[in-house]
Amino acid sequence: MNYKNLTIYGPFVQAITLEDLPDKGAIAMEAIVPIKNAGILVDEKGKVVECGIYSHLVDSYYASAPKIKSMHPQVVLPGFIDSHTHICFAGSRANDFEMRNSGKSYLDIAASGGGIWSSVQHVRNATEEQLVQNLNENIKNCISQGITCIEVKSGYGLSVVEEVKMLRAIKKAQENCPIKIVPTCLAAHLKPKDFDGSNAEYLTYIVNELLPIIKEENLSDRIDIFIEKSAFSPEEGLNYVLQAKNLGFKITVHADQFTPGGSRVAVEVGALSADHLEASGEEEIQVLATSETVATALPGASLGLGESFTPARKLLDAGACLAIASDWNPGSAPMGQLLTQASILATYEKLNAAEVFSGLCFRAAKALDIKNKGKLSAGFDADFQVYDVEDYREILYHQGSIRPTQVYSKGISLV
Ligand SMILES: [Zn+2]
Repeated sequence: MNYKNLTIYGPFVQAITLEDLPDKGAIAMEAIVPIKNAGILVDEKGKVVECGIYSHLVDSYYASAPKIKSMHPQVVLPGFIDSHTHICFAGSRANDFEMRNSGKSYLDIAASGGGIWSSVQHVRNATEEQLVQNLNENIKNCISQGITCIEVKSGYGLSVVEEVKMLRAIKKAQENCPIKIVPTCLAAHLKPKDFDGSNAEYLTYIVNELLPIIKEENLSDRIDIFIEKSAFSPEEGLNYVLQAKNLGFKITVHADQFTPGGSRVAVEVGALSADHLEASGEEEIQVLATSETVATALPGASLGLGESFTPARKLLDAGACLAIASDWNPGSAPMGQLLTQASILATYEKLNAAEVFSGLCFRAAKALDIKNKGKLSAGFDADFQVYDVEDYREILYHQGSIRPTQVYSKGISLV
């Protein structure tokens, strides 16, 4: 090893590595054992070599002249991973929010020109460059929240041309972005009003006309579908997902948001994750818990819509792998504050810090099929965030009102 290119970050009052925590199921409160007076040793590629006691790292490596990045004594933990967002969008849906809070129904809102279709209109009217700009702004906001990896979905284009425009915008944003962006094709968000044919015909059109372009231009290797009464049935969804899987796409599903059905499809096809799950019952929880599909709670959608939360406690107790993501989108989850949402979910669902941080870090990485992020562990990317507190429990306790003072991606300072 070339010691000259190593950097020690620290000392920190506490480092929360999330090492040795289980991939699935409930986690005991005591499972988090902070390393006190900690340091992180990082190599020239931005990988963690070791996270341990700072003075030991200095004693072992300083003689070989590593660089030292001095830190104000604070708490460090892995960067958050937001595994479910729709942050490539244009326009506002404040009108929907106000109508919903005035007691108007989903159908009333749709009839007045609101709902997903209004975001589709905004995105179709925006240029690719405008979408890149909006997305960059939102990514900047995410980084300031300690998020160092973000999934971004298409799904407001809903035609071959417009979905390609969205995915190209996401790819372009990635080119100048200091953190990892994971693009997902959500052309199966809804059958657009202007498509002349059935749901099944729309999905066939996507498979035949859009997915080959996405592969050819290397725009995404993941597809998502909204399985719900108002969107696609479980049967339509299963058929679509199997075809996409045959083409080599990884699968994630918007499942059980208002009615159960999607989670079974997700598990049946071996999807990476089933997201939402607010309407999952005992059977769905068991099916998810005995699978390798990550169950993703989206508390931002519950808060945006005034609906119940995903049964996160039950999912964990049954043995599921629970991730927590923001679902940030202009309609149902406009807040876009992941830590606030996760803290609130924790109070309603009784989740301890070990369970919440696992759901925001390595369990979310699993939902994105990423193996080297989400822990401060040897070989993992040195993605971490630093809070100006002396005890890690302060972070959730403040329910998102404090932000990290420093954020690093592969050892490089972003905030
Ligand atoms: Zn969503």
